[in-house]
Amino acid sequence: MDYSIIIPVYNEEKNITTLYQRLNKVVRSLKKEHELIFVNDGSSDTTLPKLVELNQSNQQVKVINFSKNFGHQMAVSAGLKYAQGELVAVIDADLQDPPELLPKFFKKAEEGYDVVYAIRTKRKESFLMKLAFATYYRFLKMIAEIDIPLDSGDFCIMKKRVVQAINLLPERNRFIRGLRSWVGFKQIGLEYEREARLAGESRYTFKKLLKLAFDGIFSFSYVPFKFMFYLGLSSIIFSFLAAIWVVYMKFFTTNYNRVPGFATTVMLLVFIGGLQLFSMGVMGEYIKRIYDEVKQRPSYIIESTIGFHN
Ligand code: UDP
Ligand code: MG
Repeated sequence: MDYSIIIPVYNEEKNITTLYQRLNKVVRSLKKEHELIFVNDGSSDTTLPKLVELNQSNQQVKVINFSKNFGHQMAVSAGLKYAQGELVAVIDADLQDPPELLPKFFKKAEEGYDVVYAIRTKRKESFLMKLAFATYYRFLKMIAEIDIPLDSGDFCIMKKRVVQAINLLPERNRFIRGLRSWVGFKQIGLEYEREARLAGESRYTFKKLLKLAFDGIFSFSYVPFKFMFYLGLSSIIFSFLAAIWVVYMKFFTTNYNRVPGFATTVMLLVFIGGLQLFSMGVMGEYIKRIYDEVKQRPSYIIESTIGFHN
């Protein structure tokens, strides 16, 4: 098998046909052995019947069918486990990532790169979302211990050995673009303009997006931990200085009792309280991730597969 294309799909009935036509045209033009792996992430619309139909007309179409919605990152992970190709591509189903770019990506792989990922130069999204994404990726780059490329998503191609390396990573809260960068090898980014979604709304709800953002930060950075430590340390130093000041006022001045301190006391109480809760929240994020690992639940359940013959 030369190429595997992984497409996570969640309620994409309106996009599948167009996607398949464009994708099929591209892979056919490459004249290599290929497979199109659709991972149905618990769709509740007619996505699955559409995929079954595609499989019946084209043996290269394969389907992994989840028992419910496990999320985009899990769908990609499952696809990576099943992919047989020497080169594996990951692409969204909503045509925000143009399939026509794939030949260019494959060519870069022939030049010796192990990972070719797409960098989004323009996004056709609202100003606020663009600002949020740009800020997030810059913040992540600043604090992460690995070099996560700016503005890169999951749209990429990888050589088999990279896919095998990623498949070896057992962690359950998966931030694929981070894991992809973590495994190393020779990587290069190619710029492209991200199209607008063909049909429907983003399948990433705000909650899902927030989880993804948190996974990026807490899976690849200890800075939040260190931040707690330094915040605690500076408040200790500050309170020590304040104590010296209070003692001085009490014993070496006569007007101590007239010092108005109520507002300061309340403010400090609230500040320290907030600091402690915040720190516990940060710690909780790490503990939650440890707990997820300890439970050892599988990250997704596959209800059925279609078109895999081994
Ligand atoms: N997706 C998925 N499971 C989910 C959410 C999304 O498989 O729970 C798929 C979706 O069908 C699409 C891709 O992941 O192919 C990217 O999702 P979407 O386009 O909604 O995200 P956005 O482009 O807005 O980040
Ligand atoms: Mg999209």
